Amino acid sequence: TDPTNLVTILFHLGEMATITQSLDEDTFRVLGEELGYRIEIVSPEDEDRELLETFDIDLDEEEDEENMSPRPPVVTVMGHVDHGKTKLLDAIRSSNVAARESGGITQHIGAYQTKVEHEGEERAITFLDTPGHEAFTAMRARGAKSTDVAILVVAADDGVMPQTIEALNHAQAADVPIVVAVNKVDKEGANPQKVMQQLTEYNLVAEEYGGETMFVPISALKREGIDQLLEAVLLTADAALVLQANPDKDARGIAIEAKLDKGRGAVATVLVESGTLRQGDAIVCGTAHGRVRAMFDENGEQLSEAGPSRPVQVLGLSSVPRAGDSFLVTSDDRTARQIAEKRDAVERAAQQARGRKRISLEDFTKALEEGKVDMLNLILKGDVSGAVEALEDSLLKIDVGDEVDLRIIHRGVGAITENDINLATVDSAIVIGFNVRPEAKARDLAADEGVDVRYYSVIYDAIEDIESSLKGMLKPEF
Ligand code: GDP
Repeated sequence: TDPTNLVTILFHLGEMATITQSLDEDTFRVLGEELGYRIEIVSPEDEDRELLETFDIDLDEEEDEENMSPRPPVVTVMGHVDHGKTKLLDAIRSSNVAARESGGITQHIGAYQTKVEHEGEERAITFLDTPGHEAFTAMRARGAKSTDVAILVVAADDGVMPQTIEALNHAQAADVPIVVAVNKVDKEGANPQKVMQQLTEYNLVAEEYGGETMFVPISALKREGIDQLLEAVLLTADAALVLQANPDKDARGIAIEAKLDKGRGAVATVLVESGTLRQGDAIVCGTAHGRVRAMFDENGEQLSEAGPSRPVQVLGLSSVPRAGDSFLVTSDDRTARQIAEKRDAVERAAQQARGRKRISLEDFTKALEEGKVDMLNLILKGDVSGAVEALEDSLLKIDVGDEVDLRIIHRGVGAITENDINLATVDSAIVIGFNVRPEAKARDLAADEGVDVRYYSVIYDAIEDIESSLKGMLKPEF
C-alpha cells in the first residue's frame, strides 16, 4: 500500500496523520486490522528473549528454592544536587574495613561493596556509586532493574528540592523502597523535622509519624550516622524484599559502567545478579562479547570469581557495552559471538529502517524554520559511559515544545568511527563527540558525506548548542 493511501485510511479512522509521522502502537494495530493483517508489536526485550531462546537460553527459567542463597542488597544514592550524595558515597567507602585492610588503591569502577555488622552478623551492601537518578533512569530505560533500595539524600538546611522529588518519583515508579538520609545535620539552620514533614506529602512517612519510611540523620562531612544509615538500609531491605539468588550457575547481570582503556581495551564494570562469574568464562554483554580475561574489585584486587550482587571490572570484551546492557555467560566463545553479532544486526536493521538523508545543525535550523523537518536525530559518542548517559539524559530533557522531536538514535563509548558516520548518513543525524576525536577514516568519511560532527568537552556547551538550534527554529508565538 502506498503511504498516501494509508493516510487516507487513517483519516477515515479519525486519525489525522502525515506521511512521515510515527504512529503509536494502538493506531498501528487498528490500521493493520483495517488492511486485514494482525499486527503484533514486539518490544526489543521480547525480540532479544526470542533470539536467546534460539541459543537454548531461557531468561525466565524458574529457580528451585533450595538452590537459593541470600545476597547483598544493591543500593543507589539519589537526591538534589549539592545535598551530599558524593560525600556520602565517599564516607561509606572509607568507613569500609575490608577496603582499608586490603591496602589496595581504591578505584572508581562504578560500584563498590561494603561490609557492616548487623545483629551480630557481618553483611555486605553493594553501592552503585554514580550518584543521581540519571544513571538509574538510563538503566531502567534499558529494562534493567539494578537497585534494591534507594537512599534519598536531603540536606537538612535546604529541605525538599525539585530533584529530591524527581528522585523519589523515579524510585517509587520502579517500586524501589526508600531510606531517607537527612544530611548536613551538623550545619547551623539544619531542620530535620521539616524534611520529615515535607516528605509526608510524597508518601514517605517517617516511623515517628506512624509511617514505614526510615529517616536517618547524618553528617556525611563529619561521617556521623553512617552506621545507623547502613543499618536502616538492611532493615528496609529485609522488610520489603527477599534478597536471594542462585550462586551455582552461569552468571547473569548487567553492565553498570564501561570505557575504552588505551592499554587494556574495553573495560566494563558489571554487576552479577545471579550465578557466579569466573575468569575464563565466555560472555556476551549487549553487542560486546569475549572471554573474561581478568576481573578486579574496587580495591584493584584481582578476583577469580564473583557471586551475586558483586560488582567487578571485567577485561576481555570485544567492544564497550552500554550502561544497562545485560550480560550472560554462554557455554562457549562461539555462542557469545553469535549472539552479539545477531544483536548487532538487529540494531543496524532498526537504524537503517529509520534512515534517510543527512543534514547539518545549521541546515536543520533552516529546514525547521521552513517547516520541512520536525525531528533532530543525534548520535552521541563519549569517553566514558557515565558521561554519555548524562549527556543523553540532559538532551532529552530540553524543552522543545510540540513542534520538534529530538531523538538519540545511537550512543556509545570510544572514538567516532566510520560506522557512526554511516549511521549519521542514513539517518540524517548530527554526531556529538564528548571528549573523543574521530578515527582518521571516520573524519574523511564525514567530510565526504557532509556529516556534521561536533566536539565538546563540557556537557553544558553541547546542550546549549543543541538547545539554541532547536529554539532558533521554533517559530515565535504571537
Ligand atoms: P552532591 O551534589 O549531592 O553529590 O553533593 P556533594 O557531596 O558534592 O556535596 C555538596 C557540598 O555539600 C560539598 O561542599 C560538601 O562538602 C558539602 N556537604 C556534604 N555533606 C555535608 C555535611 O554533612 N555537612 C556539611 N556541613 N556539608 C556537607
